[in-house]
Amino acid sequence: MAYQSTNPYDGKVLQTFEQISDAQLEEKLTQAASCFESDWRHKSFAERAAVLARAATLLRERSQAFAELITLEMGKLIAQSLGEVALSAAILDYYAENAERFLAPEKLSTPRGEALVESSPIGVLFGVEPWNYPYYQIARFAAPNLMAGNVVMVKHASSVPQCAQAFERLMIDAGAPAGAYTNLFISKEQVAQVIDDARIRAVALTGSEAAGAVVAARAGQNLKKTTMELGGSDAFIVLDDADLDKAVKSAVSGRMGNSGQACTASKRIIVVDSMADRFLEKFQAALENFQPGDPMDKQTTLAPLSSADALKNLLGQVEGAVAGGARVLTGGGRIAGQAGAFMQPTILTDIDKGNPAYMQEFFGPVALFFRVADEDAAVALANDSPFGLGGSVFTQDIERGKRLARRIDTGMVFINSGASSSPELPFGGVKNSGYGRELSGAGIQEFVNKKLIRVS
Ligand code: NAP
Repeated sequence: MAYQSTNPYDGKVLQTFEQISDAQLEEKLTQAASCFESDWRHKSFAERAAVLARAATLLRERSQAFAELITLEMGKLIAQSLGEVALSAAILDYYAENAERFLAPEKLSTPRGEALVESSPIGVLFGVEPWNYPYYQIARFAAPNLMAGNVVMVKHASSVPQCAQAFERLMIDAGAPAGAYTNLFISKEQVAQVIDDARIRAVALTGSEAAGAVVAARAGQNLKKTTMELGGSDAFIVLDDADLDKAVKSAVSGRMGNSGQACTASKRIIVVDSMADRFLEKFQAALENFQPGDPMDKQTTLAPLSSADALKNLLGQVEGAVAGGARVLTGGGRIAGQAGAFMQPTILTDIDKGNPAYMQEFFGPVALFFRVADEDAAVALANDSPFGLGGSVFTQDIERGKRLARRIDTGMVFINSGASSSPELPFGGVKNSGYGRELSGAGIQEFVNKKLIRVS
């Protein structure tokens, strides 16, 4: 069964879902296209905003139930699941409140006559989304695009079908017409069919490089625009003048949040020599303090990984790193005595350029620790990665931090904090981390027709 809800805390299968048939898929595509043409694109911003604002309100009213589904299906600590629900509601509200302003017609200065650029919707959009933030990922795709007048169809990760259904139900309960938001339980072959379908006008994917390459190639063959939000291996740079305790605290939450399964997690900790020993001692002590347990229990500090497979992959990567010469400073294995997919918080050191770990993304609580001579070496190491998503710089000299930020080849740099996401801040990367932006004013401009209207 492809779409299956399994609790990673105890391995119990909670629910399974049938994939839809090609005939059912055709019905849903027809419904989405008809909703776009005859209804949604004609609605005013105020009418669309009413639906999104209602969805935000419902999400907040039912936050506990929504959060529990995340925790059940992918193991996130319940407090973090509640945080995700709140952030998703904030994204819906943000676009409900700001979309009209973002898409206001722009009058151009032209020597003759009149020229303006209007933003109009382009049609049915297709999103392929990952399990690590099951509502947030969808909210940041659906909210701006629905407000722009497009309709959306979503193929969610096969491990979070209950969250996928709950979000679709939310939109219907909020008053979205049938076809404005459609959840698709479809196979990978059907993903290709959807991308090929003439009614689909553009595709957005958040996930791994491998999935991104497949989906972007297919969309390219069809001359359809895509946005790609892919993996990352963010550098977390600590300079000699950093506030040490603040840096350690942020590195811990940056690496351990969501059990390390975030695209912008602080995966490569890069510390200048003069700070390295003191940093490492405190960082290690903090990681060794995490307590595994039921993620539904508020006292638990270490959640399981999202699945047994995720644990197996991560353990394999640690093994490969060690075989390549890395040293395990702490952790390195699964947590004994737990039925669930628990990984020990781990620090790897002595990772040379030839080590496979050097270029890999570790999607779990495994920190790669690097000691460097100075800030130039820190920047060079940060940029020596196939990825370019986010990154952090810790220094008490903010101007120095900004100068360094400008030299880092990523889509986002955070000075004196780990990466974070907020509705008004653009999110996205460069290099193998993908292209395009979600959230903020930039996120709503990706899939609109910037139409020139010229009066001579
Ligand atoms: P994944 O395996 O790429 O899955 C993401 C989505 O793509 C799922 O819906 C998956 O469906 C689908 N998919 C996978 N292979 C496909 C194919 N060949 N054809 C069509 N669809 C395909 O990624 P993941 O392991 O769930 O997520 C972790 C990755 O996502 C990490 O690399 C992480 O850094 C990245 N990520 C990036 C961002 C960002 O904003 N940049 C945010 C979050 C996560 P199934 O579940 O059915 O396989």
